[in-house]
Amino acid sequence: MPATRVLQKKKTIALVAHDHKKDDLIAWIRQNKEKLTPHQLVATGTTGKLIEGHLGVEVHKVLSGPLGGDQQIGAMIAAGDIDMVIFFWDPMEAQPHDSDVKALLRLGVVWNIPMACCPATADFVISSAYMDSTYECQQTDYTPYLKRPIKP
Ligand code: PGA
Repeated sequence: MPATRVLQKKKTIALVAHDHKKDDLIAWIRQNKEKLTPHQLVATGTTGKLIEGHLGVEVHKVLSGPLGGDQQIGAMIAAGDIDMVIFFWDPMEAQPHDSDVKALLRLGVVWNIPMACCPATADFVISSAYMDSTYECQQTDYTPYLKRPIKP
């Protein structure tokens, strides 16, 4: 039987936005405040401060993205502590921590959690019936990757 990861009814949602996308994320959160408040919110440092300041909602803040925050969120995904990610990354500007951004996006796919990177996808995700119920994420069996013989 395939392994699953169960996302509970109350979800832990990671929110991250690059500097030129922060206004878009704040606007999106403002529009969806009622739908978001039943859930636990986690954000990278600067994004989290902005969300708290503009919207008065409680956010668990990790470090700022370039200082390791993206990696902290990636680690939380791997540990099963993040259920979904809203990450408005900037497609028009290279980031000093591009490798961390890529690693975070990669881990979201490794663990098959919902991940929205633009407002339209985020709208679809937040409108999903799964936001108010449990959801079983099918997990890929990665054991074949671990059983490759080590060449001398
Ligand atoms: P920030 O980090 O919220 O601290 O700006 C976001 C990021 O660049 O990943």
